[in-house]
Amino acid sequence: MRIGIDAGGTLVKIAYILNDKLELLKLPSKELLQAVNWVKETLDTPEICVTGGKAEQLAKLLPFEMKRIVEFEATCKGVQYLMSHSKQEEGPFVLVNVGTGTSIHYVNGEEHVRIGGTGVGGGTMIGLSRLLTGIENYQEFILSEVGGQRDELDLKVKHIYEGSEPPIPGELTASNFGNLNSVPANVPISDYLSSVIGLVGETVATASVLAAAQRGISRIVYIGSSFSGNQSLKKVVAEYTVLREGQPIILDNGEYSGAIGALLSL
Ligand code: ADP
Repeated sequence: MRIGIDAGGTLVKIAYILNDKLELLKLPSKELLQAVNWVKETLDTPEICVTGGKAEQLAKLLPFEMKRIVEFEATCKGVQYLMSHSKQEEGPFVLVNVGTGTSIHYVNGEEHVRIGGTGVGGGTMIGLSRLLTGIENYQEFILSEVGGQRDELDLKVKHIYEGSEPPIPGELTASNFGNLNSVPANVPISDYLSSVIGLVGETVATASVLAAAQRGISRIVYIGSSFSGNQSLKKVVAEYTVLREGQPIILDNGEYSGAIGALLSL
């Protein structure tokens, strides 16, 4: 059986074909042995291709020969596969991988180049939320954020220009967490989590739109597990990208691009 593995900073993503169907699976990177045992138990004579920052650590623990592929090449291959299967138009785009951190690339057919990135990403979302609320578990984070409001904690342009016409859209955030009139004791946990998502989503979207403008394009494809089950992050990123005149696509199963690309390169 063929299997592609992307061992990232937070999660190990696995892609394989079973009964002609593409199967996808995620396991925590801090428990690499869990991934190793899964591979050993599920597959008898696997053909494996690995990628990602923890690929070598994983390879040391597995008693099989395996192929390696550079992470971004794998990601690009996987993204092209997912885009053609979801009938996206061809042509250049900026690819933004919101993983533990965020990396931004320009992709045009076979050509791809890294534009830059930001340390603000999914790790920031979880890390800052944990510091503010004590919540560590990802599912609990997602559920606890439901219904959160950002008005108490964030300062919008319209709040500063109260009573007069602002020169830029009033709905833009003037300062994330900058509303110093809020009374911490009265702020529900869900509001803290929503504002953290706002901070991460707006930072990522802003950097991405500027990167796309530098290349003279507007289409931005977002991937990464930070969007998993996270409707609020999807909404912030999509809306902020549109507000800044970009064209967002949040790719379904995008977080598996690296694993799918590794699988396809076998
Ligand atoms: P990496 O390749 O760096 O591991 P991912 O694309 O897998 O990056 O994204 C990691 C981010 O996804 C985490 O920082 C977190 O915000 C989010 N995430 C989604 N599901 C989980 C989960 N089950 N456990 C921890 N983080 C998760």
